[in-house]
Amino acid sequence: MGTLYLDNAATTHICKEVLDEMIASLNDYGNTEAKFYCYAEKAKENVKTARTRIAIGLGCEPDDIVFTSGATESNNLFIKGMALTYPNKKKIIISSIEHSSIRETAHYMEKFGYIVSEIPVDKDGKVNLLDLENEIDDNTLFVSIILVNNEIGTIQDIKSIDEICEKKNVILHMDATQAIGKFDIKMSEYRALKALTFTSHKIYGPKGIGALILKSKDGIKFKLTPLFHGGEQENGYRAGTLSNELIVGFGKAVELSTKDIESDNKKLKLLEEVLLSKLKDKFGSRIKLNNDFNDRIPGLINLQFHGVNNMVLLQKISPYIAASTGSACSVSKPSHVLKSIGLSDDEISYSLRFSLSKYTHLEELDVIDKL
Ligand code: PMP
Repeated sequence: MGTLYLDNAATTHICKEVLDEMIASLNDYGNTEAKFYCYAEKAKENVKTARTRIAIGLGCEPDDIVFTSGATESNNLFIKGMALTYPNKKKIIISSIEHSSIRETAHYMEKFGYIVSEIPVDKDGKVNLLDLENEIDDNTLFVSIILVNNEIGTIQDIKSIDEICEKKNVILHMDATQAIGKFDIKMSEYRALKALTFTSHKIYGPKGIGALILKSKDGIKFKLTPLFHGGEQENGYRAGTLSNELIVGFGKAVELSTKDIESDNKKLKLLEEVLLSKLKDKFGSRIKLNNDFNDRIPGLINLQFHGVNNMVLLQKISPYIAASTGSACSVSKPSHVLKSIGLSDDEISYSLRFSLSKYTHLEELDVIDKL
């Protein structure tokens, strides 16, 4: 039995159907901006198919999709692009449990005179809606809230957040990186939600490709200043030659992960229950679930192993289980997410995250018996 990979919130393997399509597309290596010859025409067709699949999966127009290198770039493009487009609005509103690519980018903007307001969350990681509503004013550039948190899996009340932003006439952006495939989100069902970030490598697609959806309205394009200049690709939002093969893989990954969300979630729920019961059998009252609440995605558990330093434990279990202490993008500091839901520094230092894959087999969890 090899090491069981339980760090799927950090990244996933590329599944077979995705890989097959990517490999087939390598023959169509033409530049999508070139004209007439077959290599380019086929490449263009492949990208168009991917765009259509993503548009169907996420309920947007194919042209609303801006391909980027991943969620970090999408979040940077949105925040900095908005600041450059609307220089008179100086307040950025985020939640206190954002991924570092929102949190650090927003706070970086403070150097340029921006005020960042972090809306607190309750013990389940849910954004305080009253605080959100009270915080939005005429100076607000946008609201950005993580739809599903990467450390504790909390799903935000997207409908209420969208309504508040609509009422206050402010643009809503969401980082949906951990939501795709677990929570059915269709952009067309929301009004203030005009921008959405996500990435391919969390849904069994390749790394290095992601997207920012920028919703157009009645044919009028969303106004956003690009980070990259020097080409007309992506409707001018992001210059640079498109990565045909990665886009093909991304499109297939979105198609596969958005078509059977309910049954995939059922499978993840079962795996999670078995994992948890095995861990309880093994460690008894020494373990405590940090995300023991309802509004969260299945397959992601955050646990304290009382009195044991998480780094020591991670290393000890690493021959059997690959897990993590939380976000792979900010490993050197105690988790601001766990702090936000009320954990002490000691409790945070005992905490590990286990994240399952829909491709995990139940029998593989027997590895827990070896710990
Ligand atoms: N946002 C969230 C919620 C994430 O979980 C991650 C990945 N850790 C990112 C953004 C960054 O994604 P990428 O690796 O594609 O830049």
